[in-house]
Amino acid sequence: MYEYVKNDIDRLIALGAVLDVPLSEHTSFKIGGNAALALDPTSERQIADALQLCEKRKIPVALFGRGTNLLVSDSGFSGLVILFRKPLFAPAWNGSCVTVSAGASLTQLAKESVAAGWMGMERLCGIPGTVGGACAMNAGAYGAEIKQILRRVRVYRKGKVEWLDVDPDQLGYRKSPFIFPDCVVLAAELELQPDDGGAAERMQDCMTRRRDKQPLEYPSAGSVFKRPEGYFAGALIEQCGLKGMTVGGAQVSQKHAGFIINIGGATERDVSELIVQIQETVRERTGVTLECEIKRIGDSVCIS
Ligand SMILES: Cc1cc2nc3c(=O)[nH]c(=O)nc-3n(C[C@H](O)[C@H](O)[C@H](O)COP(=O)(O)OP(=O)(O)OC[C@H]3O[C@@H](n4cnc5c(N)ncnc54)[C@H](O)[C@@H]3O)c2cc1C
Repeated sequence: MYEYVKNDIDRLIALGAVLDVPLSEHTSFKIGGNAALALDPTSERQIADALQLCEKRKIPVALFGRGTNLLVSDSGFSGLVILFRKPLFAPAWNGSCVTVSAGASLTQLAKESVAAGWMGMERLCGIPGTVGGACAMNAGAYGAEIKQILRRVRVYRKGKVEWLDVDPDQLGYRKSPFIFPDCVVLAAELELQPDDGGAAERMQDCMTRRRDKQPLEYPSAGSVFKRPEGYFAGALIEQCGLKGMTVGGAQVSQKHAGFIINIGGATERDVSELIVQIQETVRERTGVTLECEIKRIGDSVCIS
């Protein structure tokens, strides 16, 4: 637990941070205790200043996009949470390239790009996070991954703000070098292709498949587990008869066994216990180890 000195708090408040922010309001799971301090930045300068101060004073920092891949501790986070949930500038188009703020909605950008006659983002539509979160996680769906269109990222790294060229080979399945704490993605440059005439239909098809297969009516963090080599996590969980298994307010979705849903009042403890039970059962019955895709934010520590 980080012990604050009053001076640190005053300096973070002077930078725009606010005290005691419920993190359940900033996660799609609707789970999590309070952040001691949270900053909703409106400029790169503010982000860099806050990060530099926290580095210097050894104040723990956690970074949230839209919190759609996060499981936050019931006891919250005793450091500073930086909330990247709003774009700092509007998307800037230059031919087939678009420069976009990290806080922009990935789904909204996908829709805008298709409406403007481009393809490359249509299968990413429906992923509920930010552009920054998608770069950090190398988000993907239905055969597409953001690395296929990501050309450059603007990052805060080791006290400096800079543009980095992207080598797609550095990004893998839900893995990227642009994830906090290694990097803070501030903006990204994506390169799209002229629409072959089918982008809108492909986007609609992906959205329909999501609505049909995913429990979008409940709070969740999407697929809890990574896809194990040669298997599908949801299919293994279903095969083990775990659909509907419930701990407190957390339940294995009846609609998609790869999702854990919050059916009301779920705590991080409920979800964590359910995760362990799923992992143990699947390992015993199939020999396959399920690794978590979701990221945990714990009290004063970030665990990837
Ligand atoms: C209903 C549902 C469906 C989903 N479907 C998919 C899917 O099809 N494919 C898929 O890949 N994911 C899916 N997800 C998971 C999630 O939406 C993605 O992982 C998304 O990219 C996370 O973005 P975010 O902005 O919410 O990031 P967060 O969940 O807030 O953060 C995720 C991680 O990225 C880090 N991070 C966030 N922003 C930045 C930044 N600017 N710089 C550096 N690090 C950062 C965080 O610290 C954290 O470690 C789904 C989730 C839900 C709830």
